[in-house]
Amino acid sequence: MALPDFHAELTRRREAGLLRETRSLTPLSATTVAHCDRVLTVFCSNDYLGLAGDPRLGEALASPAVAGSGAAHLISGHRPEHEQLEAALCEFLERDSALFFSTGYMANVGVIDALAGRGDTVVQDRLNHASLIDGGRMSGARLRRYAHASVERAAAVVNAASGGTLLATDGVFSMDGDTAPLAGLAQVAADAGATLMVDDAHGIGVEGPDGRGSVAAAGLGQSQVPVLVGTLGKAFGVFGAFVAGPAALVDYLKQTARTWIYTTAPPPGIAAACALAVDLAHREGWRREHLADLVGRFREGASRRGIPLMSSSGPIQPVPVGEARRALAVSRALEDRGYLVTAIRPPTVPRGTARLRVTLSAAHRRDQVDGLLEALERVL
Ligand SMILES: *Cc1c(COP(=O)(O)O)cnc(C)c1O
Repeated sequence: MALPDFHAELTRRREAGLLRETRSLTPLSATTVAHCDRVLTVFCSNDYLGLAGDPRLGEALASPAVAGSGAAHLISGHRPEHEQLEAALCEFLERDSALFFSTGYMANVGVIDALAGRGDTVVQDRLNHASLIDGGRMSGARLRRYAHASVERAAAVVNAASGGTLLATDGVFSMDGDTAPLAGLAQVAADAGATLMVDDAHGIGVEGPDGRGSVAAAGLGQSQVPVLVGTLGKAFGVFGAFVAGPAALVDYLKQTARTWIYTTAPPPGIAAACALAVDLAHREGWRREHLADLVGRFREGASRRGIPLMSSSGPIQPVPVGEARRALAVSRALEDRGYLVTAIRPPTVPRGTARLRVTLSAAHRRDQVDGLLEALERVL
């Protein structure tokens, strides 16, 4: 059998408005980039707290004497910086133990594959991030999905599951910005003896008391949500991810999570910068206050101008536009006006639900948000 006809497939995608392309963007400030002689204000990064460009993190990144760790954690690559980051995460999130992974994608795949296997069931929200779905597939367990954010549907699926059951959900959904019904899901898991795993990639640092995330915001802790995944490349502005939970869980993952065992430990500078970012995110509460002010301003301004919104109260504020080609056209028109908001198209989101995923950051100023609203109104 021949491989796909690459040329024909690329043409098909281009004609359907589905071709994906990278662009080289040179940062000019915390919220602007240069692209082809143009200056664009960015409204689609996940740098929610505005930490990515913080010079203190740049210094921490360059602080270790060596660039690379040289080996996997269990060989000779584990460093004091890795330990310090894991300790900082435990303290911030009020968890017994934490494990630093290279990326959130690897954390989710590694954890689900380690915890579930043939004969078990992995139950997931239909809109969960691709890495959770891929982890479920790789594990060899039965993969069952339920209607988005429905506790009732989740309960039905969990109660019909066989073998050990892992119930996994995004905390804040990455493409919609809404929050999972965590208290209800925790009850479902408790009633069925299932284990609840929350991937709070977009909630940690932003939601809940002191930015402890959507699990803390729901009044839940380690006993109800033993498996908590978070990323360090979004609100924390650096790179990497972690799993935090009971000590025995983390010790077990060190024996079994293949995406942690069989890979080079991240550079110690990354861990040092992440540890500082956790501290800054915790202490600099003004970042969350300013962000909440901008979110309110954006939503209020959008509804006044008749710009459609989705039901999100956080920094992810998608503007639904429907068809992929229209999303692309709107995104290009915004770019002509100096705003970068990437179109999110299938298969990342279901067909017919393409959108502009507008995201706000503590690094934005009010007048930048006002400018985006005006451009959106004109373009739509
Ligand atoms: C971004 C994201 C990930 C992947 O994290 P990376 O560190 O970027 O690999 C995992 N889960 C969710 C919900 C995400 O949004």
